[in-house]
Amino acid sequence: MNVLIIGGAGYIGSHVTREFLDIGHNCTVYDNLSSGLRENLFADAKFIHGDIHDYPLLLDVLKTSSFSAVVHLAASKAAGESMTNPAKYSRNNISGTINIINAVCEANVKNIVFSSSAAVYGEPQYLPIDENHPTNPENFYGFTKLEIERLLEWYDKLKGMRFASLRYFNAAGYDVKGRIKGLEQNPANLLPIIMETAVGLRKEMQIFGNDYDTNDGTCIRDYIHVSDLACGHAKALDYIDKNNKSIKINLGSENGFSVTEVLESARKITGKPIPAKITERRSGDPAKLTASCSLAQKLLSWKAVHSDIDTLIKTSWEAYQK
Ligand code: UDP
Repeated sequence: MNVLIIGGAGYIGSHVTREFLDIGHNCTVYDNLSSGLRENLFADAKFIHGDIHDYPLLLDVLKTSSFSAVVHLAASKAAGESMTNPAKYSRNNISGTINIINAVCEANVKNIVFSSSAAVYGEPQYLPIDENHPTNPENFYGFTKLEIERLLEWYDKLKGMRFASLRYFNAAGYDVKGRIKGLEQNPANLLPIIMETAVGLRKEMQIFGNDYDTNDGTCIRDYIHVSDLACGHAKALDYIDKNNKSIKINLGSENGFSVTEVLESARKITGKPIPAKITERRSGDPAKLTASCSLAQKLLSWKAVHSDIDTLIKTSWEAYQK
């Protein structure tokens, strides 16, 4: 398939691009390199330096290359930051995505794979969370993802656009074959912050709250290896294309680890002290999130295979040691 991967130079995007190339898709990466990195580009994919806000360029690219699908991963993704800078998130995640959807529609590209998030669910009413769980985002980031899902449903109905909305749980780890070289700049997520502390880029990290209703008081998340996520994108695209049907689907590991458990495993695997101090809760953080992925297993024959805590930390540590 001929696929345009928007945000393909980023952390998740580069893993998705590598997976798509590996299984024989023809890939073009479209990225403004604001957080994506040149070193994440591959010689066997074309690259267009472009911005999602540049509608004429997007449309021109989509019209001239007869793509069968767009994978859209260009977004801001720090839940904490979204609560203090909503303008950035509405601009990048809502306006930018509306541009993409309209260009996809105008260029008659049939399929779009969208990076959604488990943040659309908000504070869980039950665990593990399946796709029928009510959506009530607790942070603005989750709200932006839910708004786009709603928009996609309308375009599916009105324009026959087929979408796969992939509700990622917590993406972590690095390519199991060590082929992704670029490290995220100014990360806000737990694992890269632990790694930056382990290599000495940070003196100390913060644990945002230890008074949650969990086994050790720190928040529990479902960490999904980015190579598993990448594989989920390929399978989801295949599904919507073959079945001519849109889907909203969870991608997670179905395991939950607390912040303290992740930190302790990282200390063990890296052999580094990784100093950490307990601070205030971060606004918009639900106490526990774990996924049910039975729908992905049923429809896509997909299951996480690299998402055990050791592989998550070891592959990250290998990337950070380089
Ligand atoms: N977290 C933390 N310290 C950090 C970054 C994150 O304690 O420096 C916690 C955060 O409060 C949450 C978990 O780690 O409970 C995962 O956060 P992350 O930002 O990685 O992903 P999110 O769950 O917000 O999508």
